[in-house]
Amino acid sequence: MRVSEVLQDNLKNERTSYSFEYFVPKTSQGVLNLYERIDRMRELRPLFVDVTWNAGGSAGQGATSTTEMVAKANKVYGLATCMHLTCTGMSKATIDSALEEAYQGGCKCILALRGDAPVENEKWEATDGGFLYAKDLVKYIRDKYDDYFEIGVAGYPEGHPEQHDDKLLIAHLKEKLDAGASFVITQMFYDVNRFLSWVELCRAYGIKAPLIPGIMPISNYASFMRRVKWCEINVPSEFMAKLDAVKDDESAVKEVGAQLVAEMCKTILELGHIYHLHFYTMNLEKSTRSILDRL
Ligand SMILES: Cc1cc2nc3c(=O)[nH]c(=O)nc-3n(C[C@H](O)[C@H](O)[C@H](O)COP(=O)(O)OP(=O)(O)OC[C@H]3O[C@@H](n4cnc5c(N)ncnc54)[C@H](O)[C@@H]3O)c2cc1C
Repeated sequence: MRVSEVLQDNLKNERTSYSFEYFVPKTSQGVLNLYERIDRMRELRPLFVDVTWNAGGSAGQGATSTTEMVAKANKVYGLATCMHLTCTGMSKATIDSALEEAYQGGCKCILALRGDAPVENEKWEATDGGFLYAKDLVKYIRDKYDDYFEIGVAGYPEGHPEQHDDKLLIAHLKEKLDAGASFVITQMFYDVNRFLSWVELCRAYGIKAPLIPGIMPISNYASFMRRVKWCEINVPSEFMAKLDAVKDDESAVKEVGAQLVAEMCKTILELGHIYHLHFYTMNLEKSTRSILDRL
């Protein structure tokens, strides 16, 4: 069953589901550890797992490839997979081989993204003959593979670093859906009210596709602060105050962070129209488990 269909089904049956995002580790030991973790986290029964594509503008310096990890998750661990694919530094030929490898690896879902600029470049630029926007990649996948792949795209409840006009950003999101995508995963956020206003605005603009909240657990104060800055997102003052109060005690940060994020998830689920949570696991097991335990 397709992600968007399961989510429609969740809505009818008031059932909750979630998915786990992983990235390719830099060392081969890291890859082995991650496979063990993915295996253990299977018991949480994620609807799907997804693997990022050179996230943060890194140039694919992982110890294995995204396509290899997706194939293993699928064929060895029996998990439904979603493969991220970006346009950064990608020619049509490299996109073609990534899609072919995804297909061969049993993957049936692609999260189509433009990608971040490579770390050494200030501005994002398309490659010669490559794609300019995620919507162009969505269209390309649809044209080449018809309905074989389900396609998801990224949404930004608090704006995108290159575009702060909410309405324009939603118009660009709609273009990606109109080009053939069927669900949206959002950028991380901690301000649930801003997320909810964005959901309303999307619906007002005629977006009917499932909007999946991207949930970033908090396992460390410094990385929490770094990510908030990188993604240019707001942290409500009560939320910040609770974390600030324990910032020098790592285990208290984990505890308070899990509590705060679990409360945020609960608020979302209690609305009664969003039944799926997407966890940015950051390849860690405990912080995601800890939130799920509380839910
Ligand atoms: C859930 C999620 C997963 C991610 N995974 C990865 C990953 O695996 N690897 C990675 O490198 N990055 C990843 N990213 C980051 C993402 O690649 C960056 O945020 C990137 O800067 C934008 O990608 P996009 O797909 O949203 O691009 P787009 O939708 O193409 O938008 C890019 C910019 O162009 C603008 N734009 C779009 N269409 C038009 C138009 N018609 N005219 C003018 N302007 C337009 C948009 O407003 C936006 O500012 C992820 C982000 C999210 C939210």
